[in-house]
Amino acid sequence: MRHHELPSTGPATFFKAPHRPDADRGEAHIGVLGVPFDEGASSRPGARFGPMALRDASGRYALSSEGFYDLEAGVMRLAGARLVDVGDVDPIQNAVTETFDRVTSAARRLRTVARLPVFVGGDHSVSFPVLRAYDDVPDLHVVQLDAHLGFSDVRRGSRFTGATAFRRATEEVPGLKRITALGLRELNSGREAVDKARARGHALLTARRVREDLEGALAEIPERAAVYLSIDVDVLDPAVLPGTSDPEPDGLGYAHVMRLIDAVVGRNRLIGLDLVELAPHLDPTGRSAQVAARLLMDTFALWWDPARMV
Ligand code: MN
Repeated sequence: MRHHELPSTGPATFFKAPHRPDADRGEAHIGVLGVPFDEGASSRPGARFGPMALRDASGRYALSSEGFYDLEAGVMRLAGARLVDVGDVDPIQNAVTETFDRVTSAARRLRTVARLPVFVGGDHSVSFPVLRAYDDVPDLHVVQLDAHLGFSDVRRGSRFTGATAFRRATEEVPGLKRITALGLRELNSGREAVDKARARGHALLTARRVREDLEGALAEIPERAAVYLSIDVDVLDPAVLPGTSDPEPDGLGYAHVMRLIDAVVGRNRLIGLDLVELAPHLDPTGRSAQVAARLLMDTFALWWDPARMV
């Protein structure tokens, strides 16, 4: 009767799911892996503590086999969904190449374990080694919810930071066809990165564009594609989620972000998902981790459709 335990009881796993680092092939519908690495952060580190904080915070949303009752739709959400916590990647300090290799191999393995592999960072640099594990997918679409473009070639002397992750991914993931980035509003994207991304056909939508023309923004989201969704928590306004390395003012509200995710998940085949840049110590109230846990569970509920699972 583990799901009768109070949220404050341990051991802490993602959503109080079974801890299954050696999970078998096809064992879970949803498998969650921690990627506690933030050496790609250029200003304020701390996202390495994201997975542990999210495990702690997610105790409120322990997933039982009955799921959650949706009071608007009058149905159970996530009934029968099997979720496992497959543990963490084990980073090697000051060895980004070796650490990224470990991330890629852990991601490849998680793809065999779970129908929906979920990666909890970590700073945004980890999206690149995760995406390398999708090198067998033709016509891969990436939807990136983020205040920052992440398409620089080199930033502050490094080719492997959060600011360069999607540039590296387009170079090294042969099937990566298109990126749709929504929520952009940083000062430091740089013209070269913006021009390069647009020249490759990627869609770049600012936070203001999403707010002022939501239907137009939704129309930019792909349809009937294999989609990898990268959720940088800084897409949310810092008033909603302050615990992140590079907060930018004038971000999106929770409802807007969920509308975007609803369109991504509802129209496409979601083949992977990351949530990055949660730096819990930058928010002493703890609400950032709470919001991030809720965001993940709401995303799972939108994705889960028993009819699609047969
Ligand atoms: Mn960002």
